[in-house]
Amino acid sequence: MSQINGAILVLSGPSGAGKSSLIAKIIDDIGETYFSISTTTRPMREGERDGVDYYFVDKEEFEREVEEEQFLEHALVHSNYYGTSIKPVKKALSEGKLVIFDIDVQGNNAIKNRLSDITTSVFISPPTLSELKRRLIKRSTDSQEVIDRRVNMAKREIQRVSEYEYLLINDDLDVAAQKLRLIAQTARLKKASEEINEFVQRWEDC
Ligand code: 5GP
Repeated sequence: MSQINGAILVLSGPSGAGKSSLIAKIIDDIGETYFSISTTTRPMREGERDGVDYYFVDKEEFEREVEEEQFLEHALVHSNYYGTSIKPVKKALSEGKLVIFDIDVQGNNAIKNRLSDITTSVFISPPTLSELKRRLIKRSTDSQEVIDRRVNMAKREIQRVSEYEYLLINDDLDVAAQKLRLIAQTARLKKASEEINEFVQRWEDC
Protein backbone atom coordinates (compact mmCIF):
# COMPACT_ATOMS: atom_id res chain seq x y z
CA MET A 1 0.00 0.00 0.00
CA SER A 2 1.47 3.34 -1.04
CA GLN A 3 1.14 6.85 0.46
CA ILE A 4 0.18 5.93 3.98
CA ASN A 5 -0.23 8.87 6.36
CA GLY A 6 -2.85 7.32 8.57
CA ALA A 7 -2.82 4.41 10.97
CA ILE A 8 -4.94 1.42 11.93
CA LEU A 9 -6.68 0.52 15.17
CA VAL A 10 -7.91 -3.08 15.33
CA LEU A 11 -10.60 -3.81 17.90
CA SER A 12 -11.53 -7.42 18.56
CA GLY A 13 -13.54 -9.12 21.24
CA PRO A 14 -16.76 -11.05 21.65
CA SER A 15 -20.11 -9.53 20.75
CA GLY A 16 -21.27 -8.20 24.10
CA ALA A 17 -17.82 -6.86 25.02
CA GLY A 18 -19.09 -3.32 24.49
CA LYS A 19 -17.03 -2.33 21.46
CA SER A 20 -19.73 -0.12 19.92
CA SER A 21 -20.52 1.66 23.21
CA LEU A 22 -16.82 2.34 23.78
CA ILE A 23 -16.33 3.70 20.27
CA ALA A 24 -19.38 5.93 20.62
CA LYS A 25 -17.89 7.39 23.82
CA ILE A 26 -14.49 8.27 22.34
CA ILE A 27 -15.23 9.02 18.68
CA ASP A 28 -15.25 12.82 19.13
CA ASP A 29 -11.89 12.86 20.93
CA ILE A 30 -9.64 10.89 18.60
CA GLY A 31 -9.39 13.04 15.46
CA GLU A 32 -10.41 12.04 11.96
CA THR A 33 -11.39 8.42 11.73
CA TYR A 34 -12.76 6.00 9.17
CA PHE A 35 -14.73 3.13 10.64
CA SER A 36 -14.26 0.25 8.23
CA ILE A 37 -17.57 -1.24 7.08
CA SER A 38 -17.10 -4.95 6.46
CA THR A 39 -18.87 -7.08 3.90
CA THR A 40 -20.69 -10.11 5.26
CA THR A 41 -22.90 -13.01 4.23
CA ARG A 42 -24.57 -13.06 7.65
CA PRO A 43 -28.29 -12.20 7.65
CA MET A 44 -29.13 -8.65 8.64
CA ARG A 45 -30.23 -8.24 12.28
CA GLU A 46 -33.14 -6.09 13.33
CA GLY A 47 -32.11 -2.45 13.40
CA GLU A 48 -29.09 -2.94 11.13
CA ARG A 49 -28.74 -1.07 7.83
CA ASP A 50 -27.02 -2.14 4.65
CA GLY A 51 -24.01 0.09 3.96
CA VAL A 52 -23.96 1.36 7.56
CA ASP A 53 -23.40 -1.68 9.79
CA TYR A 54 -22.19 -3.99 7.02
CA TYR A 55 -22.49 -4.48 3.30
CA PHE A 56 -24.79 -7.49 3.24
CA VAL A 57 -24.16 -9.78 0.27
CA ASP A 58 -24.88 -13.39 -0.65
CA LYS A 59 -22.24 -16.13 -0.74
CA GLU A 60 -21.80 -15.90 -4.54
CA GLU A 61 -21.13 -12.15 -4.42
CA PHE A 62 -18.70 -12.61 -1.52
CA GLU A 63 -16.82 -15.34 -3.37
CA ARG A 64 -16.64 -13.15 -6.47
CA GLU A 65 -15.06 -10.33 -4.42
CA VAL A 66 -12.57 -12.81 -2.93
CA GLU A 67 -11.69 -13.99 -6.45
CA GLU A 68 -11.17 -10.38 -7.57
CA GLU A 69 -8.85 -9.84 -4.56
CA GLN A 70 -10.97 -6.96 -3.27
CA PHE A 71 -10.39 -7.86 0.39
CA LEU A 72 -7.51 -6.87 2.62
CA GLU A 73 -8.50 -9.86 4.77
CA HIS A 74 -11.48 -12.16 5.02
CA ALA A 75 -12.54 -14.94 7.35
CA LEU A 76 -15.25 -17.40 8.24
CA VAL A 77 -16.76 -16.40 11.60
CA HIS A 78 -19.74 -18.20 13.20
CA SER A 79 -20.20 -19.98 9.80
CA ASN A 80 -20.65 -16.68 7.93
CA TYR A 81 -18.11 -14.88 5.77
CA TYR A 82 -16.76 -11.47 6.74
CA GLY A 83 -14.27 -9.35 4.80
CA THR A 84 -12.59 -5.95 4.82
CA SER A 85 -12.50 -4.19 1.44
CA ILE A 86 -9.13 -2.72 0.45
CA LYS A 87 -10.30 0.35 -1.49
CA PRO A 88 -11.90 2.53 1.22
CA VAL A 89 -9.14 1.60 3.69
CA LYS A 90 -6.45 2.69 1.24
CA LYS A 91 -8.27 5.99 0.64
CA ALA A 92 -8.72 6.71 4.35
CA LEU A 93 -5.07 5.88 5.08
CA SER A 94 -3.88 8.20 2.31
CA GLU A 95 -6.04 10.96 3.87
CA GLY A 96 -4.25 10.49 7.18
CA LYS A 97 -7.22 9.01 8.99
CA LEU A 98 -7.23 6.53 11.84
CA VAL A 99 -8.89 3.47 10.34
CA ILE A 100 -10.82 1.44 12.91
CA PHE A 101 -11.53 -2.24 12.32
CA ASP A 102 -13.96 -4.36 14.32
CA ILE A 103 -12.66 -7.75 13.21
CA ASP A 104 -12.00 -11.14 14.77
CA VAL A 105 -8.68 -12.77 15.76
CA GLN A 106 -8.13 -14.18 12.26
CA GLY A 107 -8.55 -10.71 10.79
CA ASN A 108 -6.16 -9.23 13.33
CA ASN A 109 -3.59 -11.82 12.40
CA ALA A 110 -3.93 -11.02 8.68
CA ILE A 111 -3.67 -7.25 9.24
CA LYS A 112 -0.66 -7.74 11.50
CA ASN A 113 1.07 -9.70 8.73
CA ARG A 114 0.38 -7.04 6.10
CA LEU A 115 0.45 -3.69 7.92
CA SER A 116 2.10 -4.23 11.30
CA ASP A 117 4.08 -0.96 11.18
CA ILE A 118 0.95 1.21 11.37
CA THR A 119 -1.34 -1.12 13.32
CA THR A 120 -2.33 -1.06 16.99
CA SER A 121 -4.45 -3.96 18.22
CA VAL A 122 -6.77 -4.13 21.20
CA PHE A 123 -8.74 -7.09 22.51
CA ILE A 124 -11.81 -5.91 24.42
CA SER A 125 -13.35 -8.30 26.90
CA PRO A 126 -16.01 -8.32 29.59
CA PRO A 127 -14.47 -9.14 32.99
CA THR A 128 -15.73 -12.73 33.07
CA LEU A 129 -17.44 -15.35 30.92
CA SER A 130 -20.58 -15.21 33.08
CA GLU A 131 -20.76 -11.44 32.61
CA LEU A 132 -20.54 -11.98 28.84
CA LYS A 133 -23.42 -14.48 29.00
CA ARG A 134 -25.47 -12.02 31.08
CA ARG A 135 -24.92 -9.19 28.56
CA LEU A 136 -25.79 -11.38 25.57
CA ILE A 137 -29.01 -12.56 27.20
CA LYS A 138 -29.93 -9.00 28.25
CA ARG A 139 -29.38 -7.74 24.69
CA SER A 140 -31.96 -10.31 23.51
CA THR A 141 -31.23 -9.84 19.80
CA ASP A 142 -30.02 -13.42 19.34
CA SER A 143 -31.58 -16.87 19.80
CA GLN A 144 -30.24 -19.19 22.52
CA GLU A 145 -28.43 -21.17 19.82
CA VAL A 146 -26.65 -18.05 18.54
CA ILE A 147 -25.79 -16.99 22.11
CA ASP A 148 -24.28 -20.43 22.79
CA ARG A 149 -22.24 -20.18 19.57
CA ARG A 150 -20.97 -16.71 20.52
CA VAL A 151 -20.04 -17.91 24.03
CA ASN A 152 -18.09 -20.87 22.62
CA MET A 153 -16.40 -18.57 20.13
CA ALA A 154 -15.47 -16.16 22.95
CA LYS A 155 -13.90 -19.06 24.91
CA ARG A 156 -11.72 -19.85 21.89
CA GLU A 157 -10.88 -16.21 21.13
CA ILE A 158 -9.78 -15.41 24.68
CA GLN A 159 -7.01 -18.00 24.24
CA ARG A 160 -5.47 -15.73 21.58
CA VAL A 161 -5.42 -12.48 23.55
CA SER A 162 -1.61 -12.57 23.64
CA GLU A 163 -1.63 -11.81 19.88
CA TYR A 164 -2.85 -8.29 20.76
CA GLU A 165 -0.86 -5.33 22.03
CA TYR A 166 -3.54 -4.39 24.56
CA LEU A 167 -6.13 -6.26 26.60
CA LEU A 168 -8.89 -3.89 27.62
CA ILE A 169 -11.28 -5.22 30.25
CA ASN A 170 -14.61 -3.47 29.93
CA ASP A 171 -15.98 -3.58 33.45
CA ASP A 172 -16.70 0.10 34.06
CA LEU A 173 -17.60 1.72 30.71
CA ASP A 174 -16.16 5.17 31.57
CA VAL A 175 -12.85 3.77 32.82
CA ALA A 176 -12.50 1.50 29.79
CA ALA A 177 -13.40 4.39 27.45
CA GLN A 178 -10.70 6.59 28.97
CA LYS A 179 -8.10 3.85 28.38
CA LEU A 180 -9.27 3.26 24.82
CA ARG A 181 -9.16 7.01 24.15
CA LEU A 182 -5.47 7.06 25.13
CA ILE A 183 -4.68 3.97 23.05
CA ALA A 184 -6.45 5.43 19.99
CA GLN A 185 -4.70 8.78 20.30
CA THR A 186 -1.34 7.00 20.53
CA ALA A 187 -2.21 4.61 17.68
CA ARG A 188 -2.42 7.59 15.34
CA LEU A 189 1.24 8.42 15.98
CA LYS A 190 2.52 5.19 14.43
CA LYS A 191 4.40 5.80 11.20
CA ALA A 192 4.59 3.65 8.08
CA SER A 193 8.06 2.19 7.55
CA GLU A 194 8.19 3.91 4.13
CA GLU A 195 7.61 7.28 5.79
CA ILE A 196 10.34 6.54 8.33
CA ASN A 197 12.78 5.56 5.57
CA GLU A 198 11.99 8.75 3.65
CA PHE A 199 12.52 10.81 6.81
CA VAL A 200 15.91 9.18 7.44
CA GLN A 201 16.87 9.81 3.81
CA ARG A 202 15.86 13.47 3.98
CA TRP A 203 17.50 13.90 7.39
CA GLU A 204 20.82 12.59 6.10
CA ASP A 205 20.64 14.74 2.95
CA CYS A 206 20.28 17.99 4.83
P1 5GP B 1 -21.24 -9.84 14.27
O1 5GP B 1 -21.92 -10.88 13.42
O2 5GP B 1 -21.60 -9.97 15.71
O3 5GP B 1 -21.47 -8.45 13.74
O4 5GP B 1 -19.68 -10.11 14.16
C1 5GP B 1 -19.16 -11.37 14.42
C2 5GP B 1 -17.66 -11.33 14.46
O5 5GP B 1 -17.13 -11.06 13.17
C3 5GP B 1 -17.07 -10.26 15.38
O6 5GP B 1 -16.05 -10.89 16.14
C4 5GP B 1 -16.50 -9.24 14.44
O7 5GP B 1 -15.38 -8.61 15.02
C5 5GP B 1 -16.08 -10.13 13.28
N1 5GP B 1 -15.96 -9.37 12.02
C6 5GP B 1 -16.75 -8.39 11.54
N2 5GP B 1 -16.30 -7.94 10.36
C7 5GP B 1 -15.18 -8.65 10.08
C8 5GP B 1 -14.24 -8.62 9.00
O8 5GP B 1 -14.33 -7.86 8.03
N3 5GP B 1 -13.21 -9.50 9.08
C9 5GP B 1 -13.05 -10.36 10.12
N4 5GP B 1 -12.00 -11.16 10.10
N5 5GP B 1 -13.90 -10.41 11.16
C10 5GP B 1 -14.96 -9.56 11.15
